[in-house]
Amino acid sequence: MHSDLARKIEKARHYAEEPKRIQLQELKAKFAGENDSHQISLKDGQWTCSCSFFRSWKTCAHIMTAQKLLDPMLPQEARQPELAFEQSIAVPA
Ligand SMILES: [Zn+2]
Repeated sequence: MHSDLARKIEKARHYAEEPKRIQLQELKAKFAGENDSHQISLKDGQWTCSCSFFRSWKTCAHIMTAQKLLDPMLPQEARQPELAFEQSIAVPA
């Protein structure tokens, strides 16, 4: 019983070093910006943010921050192209 659990803990430790194993499909988060807090969300590979910058630009600092932090766990279409490029040249698979 206990050794079964110990094996799972060991496996989780190993998995945690490979964040690509987790792919976020949906996400909702509150982002504490400098002036206000905003709601960011990811659904079907598309990001949205409640801030006014996003309405014009379809991206914003809040989404870019989430993309930078969560990059290995994002579906391809939700990644920031520049980060995807950086990673593809920096980390040979
Ligand atoms: Zn925003």
